[in-house]
Order: sequence, then C-alpha cells, then structure tokens
Amino acid sequence: MKQRFATVTVHAGQRPDPVTGSLSTPIYQTSTFVFPDVATGARRFAGEEAGYIYTRLGNPTQAALEEKIAALEGAEAALAFGSGMAAISAVLLGLLRSGDHLLYGDSIYGCSHSLINELLPRWGITATAVDGTDLVAVAQAIQPNTKVFLLETPSNPTLKVVDIAAIAALCAPNAIQLVVDNTFASPALQLPLKLGAHVVVHSATKFIGGHGDVIAGVAAGPKALMDELRMTTLKDIGGVIAPFDAWLLLRGLKTLDVRVQRHCANAMQVAAFLDQHPMVERVYYPGLPHHPQYEIAQRQMSAPGSLISFEVRGGLEAGRRFIERLELCQLAVSLGDVDTLIQHPASMTHSIVPREERMATGITDGLIRLAVGIEDAADIIEDLAQGLAYVGSMPNLSAVR
Ligand code: PLP
Repeated sequence: MKQRFATVTVHAGQRPDPVTGSLSTPIYQTSTFVFPDVATGARRFAGEEAGYIYTRLGNPTQAALEEKIAALEGAEAALAFGSGMAAISAVLLGLLRSGDHLLYGDSIYGCSHSLINELLPRWGITATAVDGTDLVAVAQAIQPNTKVFLLETPSNPTLKVVDIAAIAALCAPNAIQLVVDNTFASPALQLPLKLGAHVVVHSATKFIGGHGDVIAGVAAGPKALMDELRMTTLKDIGGVIAPFDAWLLLRGLKTLDVRVQRHCANAMQVAAFLDQHPMVERVYYPGLPHHPQYEIAQRQMSAPGSLISFEVRGGLEAGRRFIERLELCQLAVSLGDVDTLIQHPASMTHSIVPREERMATGITDGLIRLAVGIEDAADIIEDLAQGLAYVGSMPNLSAVR
C-alpha cells in the first residue's frame, strides 16, 4: 500500500527490533561489530556480503535514518552525516575533480560560500555565483567544464525562490549535476528530486531534527552515487553521524509533518503582521503576494515555509535594539526549531561573506532573519509588537540611522 507523506514520516525505516520487538529503533551505540569468523570479516570488507563492519562505514541506527530520509525525499538512497556542512562538502568533493567548474546560487549559506570560495580552489575547482532567478544569466554562466550547480531555495537569508525545474532543464543537456540544499523547505514542503534535481542535501540540524538539540546532515539521490560517496568522501573524510544523533533525527522526523504545518501557519500570521507594521521597512516571505517569486513558491512548495527576513526602520542600530528588546524570540542562529529564533545575518551567519557581495545579494546591514517556531502565533506577534513599539518610541532614531 502506497503511504502518504505523514505516514512515511512515522513508519519508513522502522521495523520492530528482531531481538526484543522494540518498536522504537534501538540506538546501536557501538563503534565496531563482531565477525563470527575471519572469512565473514573478509567477505564484508570485500563487499561480497552485507553486514556491518565499523560505525564510520554504517550502523543500524544510521541505516534506519537513511531509509527514512530516502523515502521522504523520493530518493533511491540516502546518507547521514555529522553536520550539514559534512554532507555538502562530501557531495561536492565526490562530484567534482580538479579542473572542474561549479555554479552556485548567489544567495547561499555562509559556510557553503567559504567552502566554495576558500577551500575548493585549493584543489583546482573554480566557481561562479549566479542569480538562480535569472535563467538567461544561468545559461550564460555555464562553462564547458561546469559539472555541478549548487542551489539553495528558498535561500539563506533573503528567501529568494528559484525554479528548480527550470534550472534542472538548463543543467540536463550540459551534463551538470543539480544539487539542491533543501534545508529551508524540508521534504514536507518541497521535493527537489521530483523536479529534476540529481542530489538533495540538508542541514538536518534544522527541520529534520526540529528540536534544536542535534547537529547533523543528510544527502539523498541515486543509489550508485550514494554508495560511491559512502565508500569515499564519507568513509575517508569521516563526517559520520553518531548513532544517538541518528536516533534523535528518527524521533524528530516522526513529527515533521505536523511541526512544519504549525511553523508555516504561524509564519503566515507573523509575516502579515510585520508587512503592515509602520516600523518595518521591508519583509521577505515567499507567502506574501508581493514577494518577487510568489508564483514560483506557490507552484513548487506546498507552503511557503517559516523563515521571514525583514528590515526595521532606522537601520542597523534600530534593528540591534529591537532584537535585544525581545523576550520570547531568542537571539540565536539556526532555524527549523520548535523555538522561535532571531538573528542578524550581516554580523552572524553571513559575516564570512564579503560586505560588497552581501550588499549585492540583499543582505543589508539592517536585515533581520526570523525563524518562526511552533509556539502560539499570538505570543510571537505580541513579542515582536512590543519590540517594534520600543524602537518606534526612540526619539533619536533618525540620528542613529
Ligand atoms: N545549509 C543551510 C541552508 C544552512 O542554513 C546551514 C546551517 O545553518 C547549513 C547548510 C549547514 O548545516 P550545519 O550547521 O548542520 O552544518
């Protein structure tokens, strides 16, 4: 029987433990696995027999998680990693060779940006940033040696929405592998593989974990590629997930669908509140009809997500005072947690991106990113309202601007 998404979040990858009948997948907290004899160990190392060897190469708790992720993303296979950056670096290093060129969306997470611009050039891999919403610019940026396009949508932190199917259509005839960072949407809202992407990556620290208590990453895609990455960039660089962390993700995923529904319903109310507030200059949220890619978001995502970026009137100083005045919303990076988090990209998550480049991609000094949680929306709005009233009452705001 074909199961629907919410059912898959609960059941995929899960079977009663064969020894005890435990319904919850056990945490196989072991580094190694005992072979019954030398010949069995040799066959497992030679890949001639299935079975566990050593947790960096695989572990039953990780395997259950990988099966669930593959089922949720509609992928043949998946891999679990110790962080989102471990997943992204393992995928890029696995797909690229010295002399290759990488295209990436110009609005991208700060550490992905530094991986691409600081580390990859050391191995002879060049890269070009391109505005994924400008299909003519994308077509022009493709070089004969372009092998991978890394795309975030919605993007961090300006919530630009890129048409995945349109980018996939440009990549396919040029044999470019499209890798989509699906962190901001989660598989509950967007399935990039169904739209033509080759690989999906996530910071599983975010919606997949959901509770702000684990750092992890996942990648999903064709089985042959996932098998190759497991035995190369996962095995040899070693960004493996711990069994306990894999279990935390398995537990978090069971509520992904209900959590994300609540996140999105809250975010819609918060975005509407901010959008009409006189102290708010600009709001970026793909669920507001004035968002430049509103139509693409409506088509590509089942809901517009729970990340909102906005600018408070009065610039950086007003924004700083507003954030520090908040009581419920916590000043912390990360997103997709049940708690509402707020941060300042220019001095935090994107401080690593050169200022000129930040400004060109809309990451102004006054931009604030809000990751709406699953509390009561009225309480989140009340907190934001009192913070905005406070900066609105500051007499010298234009002087600090
Ligand atoms: N991709 C995106 C879009 C992110 O926002 C982040 C972290 O914030 C990462 C990747 C990196 O994930 P991690 O912090 O789990 O390594």
